Amino acid sequence: MNKNFIAGEWLDGARVSRNINPSDTRDLVGEYAQADVAQTQLAIASAEAAFPAWSLSTPQQRFDILDAVGSEILARRAELGDLLAREEGKTLPEAIGEVARAGNIFKFFAGEALRPGGEMMPSVRPGVGVEITREALGVIGIITPWNFPIAIPAWKIAPALAYGNCVVFKPAELVPGSAWALAEILSRSGLPQGVFNLVMGRGAEVGATLLDDPRIAAVTFTGSVATGQKVAAACVARMAKFQLEMGGKNPMVVLDDADLGVAVNCAVQSGFFSTGQRCTASSRLIVTEGIHDRFVAAVIAKMQTLKVGDARQAGTDIGPVVDQNQLGQNLSYVGIAQAEGATLACGGTAVTHSADGQPGFYMTPALITDTTAAMRINREEVFGPVVSVLRARDYEEALFLANDTPFGLAAGIATASLKHATHFKRHSQAGMVMVNLPTAGVDYHVPFGGRKGSSYGPREQGRYAAEFYTVVKTAYTQA
Ligand code: ADP
Repeated sequence: MNKNFIAGEWLDGARVSRNINPSDTRDLVGEYAQADVAQTQLAIASAEAAFPAWSLSTPQQRFDILDAVGSEILARRAELGDLLAREEGKTLPEAIGEVARAGNIFKFFAGEALRPGGEMMPSVRPGVGVEITREALGVIGIITPWNFPIAIPAWKIAPALAYGNCVVFKPAELVPGSAWALAEILSRSGLPQGVFNLVMGRGAEVGATLLDDPRIAAVTFTGSVATGQKVAAACVARMAKFQLEMGGKNPMVVLDDADLGVAVNCAVQSGFFSTGQRCTASSRLIVTEGIHDRFVAAVIAKMQTLKVGDARQAGTDIGPVVDQNQLGQNLSYVGIAQAEGATLACGGTAVTHSADGQPGFYMTPALITDTTAAMRINREEVFGPVVSVLRARDYEEALFLANDTPFGLAAGIATASLKHATHFKRHSQAGMVMVNLPTAGVDYHVPFGGRKGSSYGPREQGRYAAEFYTVVKTAYTQA
């Protein structure tokens, strides 16, 4: 059994969870200890005790540790990618790519530890100097979802540690394997005892304990809107800092002048790959009249070539859905869209077995046409390979529809028009905008985050991560 890492020790849990392979439900990936409230509190206490020394550790010490962690992750990308694909269901190339991303993130933040920056300026008063510096916050509670089992933990843990904070990390219940492997690497990295803690367990128990504990200075959360609201309410109640990354209903606009191949590739790649289980997935294709029918036909032709199957088998384009609940939700949204008058133009059916007869949570990617903006399929996040198409008269209507959503994470446009691309970049109400590129698949060294109902608080990743993981100090000195 894989244990929790608390106060520098591997501890058994109160219970055990079974990690099941969604590509083959007969395959037990492993058994993982589940922490309870008392163990979570122990982890928090040890992180609190470790903070004073760690917050004063040298940049060199932090660089060395984070850089070595990044190197090990990169060196083991094939093995860790296999584990990730096995427990989460994205394809092996996607999983290996995600692991590499995690390794690169640790290396990026290793470098950031050496570049804390700061400002120095004269005061408005004579003979007085002003220094503006950033300091670590304290213990960071990190709560992550199942869809990026190593990259999201990496992009929260690496900056937290780089800027001198201690960490209590609670991964999602469905994917303890990658989290445990990452914790195992961190446990050998030279971090002082208590600086990093892993507490696997239930959201309502372990997660909620992190939210309510006054020793947790800040909470960074990625997951559903419903849980994000609970995180916000709990943190506001005790005035703790928090950061939320939640849902999306990301639009991809396709204009008449788009390169058809580029547009189809963007739509299929960001709509269906990783089984549509990315917060940056394009789930609404907003297509102008002149190209609509050609585009839909070409997307369907491409979809029919996609192989749904075991995540780890060569040739699989789309792995399984992560679990039975999510599969049920995806299929129910296909039904809801049809009941509201939309057309199921392609796919959208459950396939209980892979081609080899393995029982898993498979479904064919779904394309739903003839939809209107008011339909639930265009307003609510599905989080699966279910994509709808909206018809737009012209660019202006397409832009309006793109922004007509409570969410604002990513938005894309396929067009050959510099004028429309430039206008869209400026007027899209999303945190990230892509021109002739898929909405999903972002760089690891630049800010990530959304607007409106998608995100709350400072951006993650890149140098902008410092905004959340540090607090500013202004110091005045009279010479
Ligand atoms: P997802 O659809 O990604 O599972 P959730 O919001 O349910 O979205 O889960 C994201 C993370 O939040 C998981 O690690 C989960 O355990 C955790 N979580 C769920 N409920 C709570 C809660 N009440 N308090 C804190 N964390 C929670």
